[in-house]
Amino acid sequence: MAKLYFRYGAMGSSKTANALMVEYNYHERGKKALLAKPSTDNRDGERIVKSRIGLEKECVLTEELVKYSDEELKKYDCVIVDEAQFCSKEQVEFFTRIVDELEIPVICYGLRTDFKNELFEGSMWLLAWADEIEEIKTVCWCTKAAKCNARFDKNGIIREGAQVAIGGNSSYIALCRKHMKEGNLGPTITEMLKEL
Ligand SMILES: [Zn+2]
Repeated sequence: MAKLYFRYGAMGSSKTANALMVEYNYHERGKKALLAKPSTDNRDGERIVKSRIGLEKECVLTEELVKYSDEELKKYDCVIVDEAQFCSKEQVEFFTRIVDELEIPVICYGLRTDFKNELFEGSMWLLAWADEIEEIKTVCWCTKAAKCNARFDKNGIIREGAQVAIGGNSSYIALCRKHMKEGNLGPTITEMLKEL
């Protein structure tokens, strides 16, 4: 039976590399997986899923995917969605339709929460509706599990602003909840910021 999967993890937990590996595994077995991502994620140009370790692959936008006919969707054995936190409620609803009516599995990768530690829209509906929810683990600088995504710039942690920062010079780091609350980015980054 096909399922809707939500595989979430903090920044730097290799979600995109995982997504690309699953796509490759389908390909290797002579099956077709459709890669998609929301247009909100525009870091790497329009229609490319790209991981930090350099793997990349062309994809479609989830805004286009929702317009696919059943016939077009049935050409695929699986749908893989990267940066799924940026999906709308309607798009996640469409994923449930692909699973339930066409029996095609949909595997979504994304962040659970934003830099204010609040759910993204896509993540909220995936947590509500996914059949399987799995965490891709990563660690804080203190070696505890990192569940939070801190935004920071040369002045340290940022607590205010839009959920999706367009442009600007801010970066992200995964932290445990305690260090997120304290705004403690760890010795390495703190030292680096001092030198700027
Ligand atoms: Zn920590």
